[in-house]
Amino acid sequence: MSATLCSFALRRSTSGALRAAHRHFSTSASRDASWGFIGLGAMGYPMAKNLRAKIPEGDSLTIYDVNTSSMDKLSSEASSKNLHIAKSPREVAEKSDNIISALPEPQHVKSVFNDILASSLPKPLSERSRLFIDCSTIDPITSREVAKKVKDHGDADFVDAPMSGGTVGADAGTLTFMVGADNELMARIEPILMMMGKKVWHMGVQGTGLSGKLANNYALAINNIAAAEAFNLGIRWGINAKALADLLNSATGKSWPSEVNPPVPGVKENSPSSRDYQGGFGVSLMKKDLKLAITAADEAGAKLVLAEVARSVYEETEKEHKGKDFSVVYRWLGGKE
Ligand code: NAD
Repeated sequence: MSATLCSFALRRSTSGALRAAHRHFSTSASRDASWGFIGLGAMGYPMAKNLRAKIPEGDSLTIYDVNTSSMDKLSSEASSKNLHIAKSPREVAEKSDNIISALPEPQHVKSVFNDILASSLPKPLSERSRLFIDCSTIDPITSREVAKKVKDHGDADFVDAPMSGGTVGADAGTLTFMVGADNELMARIEPILMMMGKKVWHMGVQGTGLSGKLANNYALAINNIAAAEAFNLGIRWGINAKALADLLNSATGKSWPSEVNPPVPGVKENSPSSRDYQGGFGVSLMKKDLKLAITAADEAGAKLVLAEVARSVYEETEKEHKGKDFSVVYRWLGGKE
């Protein structure tokens, strides 16, 4: 099945159509809707803040993070006081029908859902089933296991909706989501994600949102190394960095790392490389996504020729340049301006 860009259809329709979808969703059974958010980190915090600002005042939002200070901060900064701090993921699920999570790694998602599913949940507050939308980047295998447990528990669905756009997109509410869910759930999921993002891609059944995300990030991991190597080569051969970028980006060597996120300082104003590789997409996150892609490729029996080399490049780069944007691979190669 081909992916469907849901936001395109929504944006092409009148803004009234989108509002109607939201209203229909949030006032089901003429009762105010109940929302939950678990994981208030670099991505989850601004997403939950945007969600609270966009849902109607009468809707409740219940939040949880192991880090209590992020809950206190959101409680004081949120646009509405209809926001409740929970003591556990389980309490979020008990008090909400629509629950979004943004957690670091597979083990965090597993532990949160072990807590939520420890015993049977009370009936949802609305007439609809409970919906869990997990935006964490984890492996599709873990996601499918959790989805099955949720389904077996009854009266609930778990879908994967990993995101791209980084913390800048999370702040601005312009994220892109890649969703793995049954067709009939999409009409419910789209308006929710559009409150935190600008694009929603439906990739197929549960788990395929993550497969799409990991396939994209695998290509990104490789393209980033290729761009860094090409710049290093050209500059050592005596070519001016900007002239080389102009050539690459109008020829067949062009990629997102060569054009949007070039690894050589000064080639593009405001790129992470031009501010000492600060901000951007951290080298540790790239390493993590690559590892997840390798795990998922093993499961599918897909041959990856460049994966192990790329993995060692990011591991070594992280040792020397932890916390920096992943284009810092250029420095690890010995690249200079
Ligand atoms: P983060 O580490 O900043 O935040 C994760 C939050 O989860 C933290 O606040 C942490 O305290 C909380 N947490 C950990 N265990 C928990 C538990 N058991 N119960 C409740 N809360 C718990 O991570 P992030 O950057 O917000 O990323 C979240 C997910 O989104 C990751 O899977 C990441 O790969 C993905 N992602 C991140 C970016 C990015 O640029 N940061 C971009 C796209 C996707």
